Amino acid sequence: MPFLPRLRCPACGRTIHGIDAKVVPPAEKYEDCLRRCTRCHIGASNAKNPAKVRFIQGPKPAAPAEPPPAEQPPPVPQPGSAEPTQGS
Ligand SMILES: [Zn+2]
Repeated sequence: MPFLPRLRCPACGRTIHGIDAKVVPPAEKYEDCLRRCTRCHIGASNAKNPAKVRFIQGPKPAAPAEPPPAEQPPPVPQPGSAEPTQGS
């Protein structure tokens, strides 16, 4: 049974634990990686030799959405030029 040794996440430095794998598929994308940093969504390819491991960036964690362009604040009514009072 191949054992994939633990690695260190290249982004955050946390340990990515090794794993005993029955089958070791070639990892072409993050989802294929048996070892992943779940914080950074970085997967390590399934090479047994740490020197041959490639790190694959997975889908980024949900980032806060880009805020919409700020709307111009409504013009502040100037005293004296107020709109006609309605309903009087
Ligand atoms: Zn990480």
